[in-house]
This record gives sequence, structure tokens and C-alpha cells, in this order.
Amino acid sequence: MAQVRLEHIYKRFGTVEVVKDINLEILDGEFLVLVGPSGCGKTTILRMIAGLEEISDGNLFIGDKLVNDVPPKDRDIAMVFQNYALYPHMSVFENMAFSLKLRGIPRQDIEQRVATAADMLELRPYLKRRPKELSGGQRQRVALGRAIVREPKVFLMDEPLSNLDAKLRVQTRAEISRLHLRLRRTTVYVTHDQTEAMTMGDRIVVLSGGVIQQLGTPQELYDHPANQFVAGFIGSPSMNFFPNTKVTRSDGTVRVGVGDQYLTLPQDVADRVKGFEGREVTLGLRPEAFTNVADASAGSTLTGTVDVVEHLGNEQLVYAKVSGATVLARVDPSVHARAGDNITLGVRTDHMHVFDPETTKALTSLQVARA
Ligand code: ATP
Repeated sequence: MAQVRLEHIYKRFGTVEVVKDINLEILDGEFLVLVGPSGCGKTTILRMIAGLEEISDGNLFIGDKLVNDVPPKDRDIAMVFQNYALYPHMSVFENMAFSLKLRGIPRQDIEQRVATAADMLELRPYLKRRPKELSGGQRQRVALGRAIVREPKVFLMDEPLSNLDAKLRVQTRAEISRLHLRLRRTTVYVTHDQTEAMTMGDRIVVLSGGVIQQLGTPQELYDHPANQFVAGFIGSPSMNFFPNTKVTRSDGTVRVGVGDQYLTLPQDVADRVKGFEGREVTLGLRPEAFTNVADASAGSTLTGTVDVVEHLGNEQLVYAKVSGATVLARVDPSVHARAGDNITLGVRTDHMHVFDPETTKALTSLQVARA
């Protein structure tokens, strides 16, 4: 077992800096997810940990050992790729056994390790098949098995589920989580999918433009996003943003204006936006911050016109025009809403997020990031 530590890590391709000053301690036995949009640098970070990409600046430790100049084969890591990277001419058994054979491990041990991994992954019936005789999900399990048999200190996984269809992706996601609970090996997992990150990660690193935006548990990121990028990236459907929302105070009450309507801020939010009275902020409300209007009181409703309704059975997603902005609200299926109807949405103002329009930093964040 081992922790992985990145200290002031940079990566430059020519003059272009694609990873900037990454400081990160991945704990022993932790499942850490690197998530962010395409091109944010997550694969590059993973490849630097693997030793497949040179580090331009900074120090990388696995355990207590500085590994900047240690070749990949000596880092005691195993990597699982998106495209499985199986040897097509070898059987499942041979694919899983290959790296052990290269290391000169005795035949009996190899058979034992492959059998244990095959049982964990329910691959026993397929050991004699070639990869082309397997489904996508089975191939990805072989790729996982090949990593497991090596008993590495650290697993590195680069979008291992992205070639699977939606249903299989959900199944395999749970399998990887189960496997992690059993093996408790330090794992760094790369994905662009926030749902995968939220469901699998002990902690999540959100990246944008090669820079860490926030590090935290799934719940910390969801409840207390540090900035507008994280707020918009984590959570599905995404948070609604209302730019140019004016903060006003009268008779001791602090309000924010959404067009010609206003919301009254609860005391703790009012305290946090004190410096912004008379100025504009960006307001953020998650789709689930809207309630059935029967629960709402004055200063905690927004009125608009229903644009589109998506019925999902257990809930409905209502797109409404509210003071010129399109708002997505997740409401109970019992609320009657049809396109063209007027609708009054209750707002759980204690679930409100407020962002500084200049820095995009959250004024409502608890600053829980433990970078
Ligand atoms: P994706 O989800 O699309 O795989 P990513 O977050 O994993 O994206 P990286 O593959 O790490 O992103 O790439 C980060 C940036 O570095 C991108 O802008 C990419 O174009 C650039 N990049 C990656 N490899 C090279 C290379 N060998 N030479 C030049 N630029 C590169």
C-alpha cells in the first residue's frame, strides 16, 4: 500500500503549459477521482504518475520514494486503459498471466493469482477465450483482472468505462467500487463524467485548464462548491445561474433581485454577502432547490411561465422562463405543469449559492477544500 504525493507538478508541451502547480496527496488506500472537461489535463497527470509522461517541474512521490526518474515498470503501479489494451492473440488466462510470466513468477503462483482475480471478476468461464470472443464488459473485466494479478501498490485507471454502453457502465462502476472495498489499494481514476466521479470517489479533484479547482468529498463539492466552475460541473442537471443579481438591504432584510422579483436571504447567507450590498452577484440555485409552492413563504418564491416539462416518473424537470432567464426546476410529479402555464416555484433559500462575479469564487462556500 502507498500514498501518492504530487508537489508543485507542472507539464509543458513546448511552450504550452497544460498542467499547472498541482499539489495533491492521495492517501493510502484511497479512491481518488480526477474529473474535468476534455483537455483539462487529467490524463496527462495520470500518465505522469505512471511514468509514461515526463514531469516538467515538481516532485512526485509514491510511498516515500521520489519517482520522477523511476521508469514505469519499477513504480509498482498497474494501469487500466479505456481501450482495454488486451493482446488479441492470447486467451483471457494468458492476458492476465502475461506480466507475471515476464517477472518470472512460478507457474503455480501465477495460476493461483489468476484464479483469485477471475473469481472476483466472475471470469472463470471465459479463461480460455480470446478477447474477440468476449463482450465489451467482459473485456474490461479482463483488463481489470490483468491489473489486479500484479498486486501493485497503486492502480491508475483512465476512463475505463467509456467504451461500455450506459447500462453496463453502471454495472461495471459498481463492480470497480466493490473491488476497491475488497482490495483497498490506492487508486487514481480519471473520468470526464461527474456522475462517475460522485458515485465512485472517496475524494474528487475537479480540474479545469490544468489547475485544481477544488478537492473534496463528493458531498463537500456538491454542498459547498468553491467557485462557479465546480458549482456548474458537479450535479446533474446543472445548477441554474442568475448573473447580475443585485443585493439590497431594507429594514434589516437582505434581498437579491431576480429581474423584477426578489428573494430574501437567510441570515447566514446575508452575513456572507455583506460586502456586496448595493452591488451585483451571481446567484446559483440547483434544480432541487425549488420546492412545491405550498411550502413557500413571501420572499422565497419565483414566478414564471412553463416552457417545457420532462416527465421522469419519480420527478419532473420543468424548464420555466423566470424574469427573462431559463430556469430548470426539479419538482414533484404531483405539481401540475404544462407548457404555457404560469408557475410559482418555491425556493429553498437556505440552499442558495452566491458567487463573486469578478473572481467567480463562492461567497457561500465553507472553504472546505483540503488541498
Ligand atoms: P480528455 O478527457 O479529452 O482525454 P484530458 O483532460 O485527459 O482530456 P489531456 O489528455 O491530459 O486532457 O490533455 C491536456 C492538454 O494537453 C490538451 O490541451 C491536449 O491537447 C494537450 N496535450 C496532451 N498531450 C499532448 C502532446 N503529446 N503534445 C502536445 N499537447 C498535448
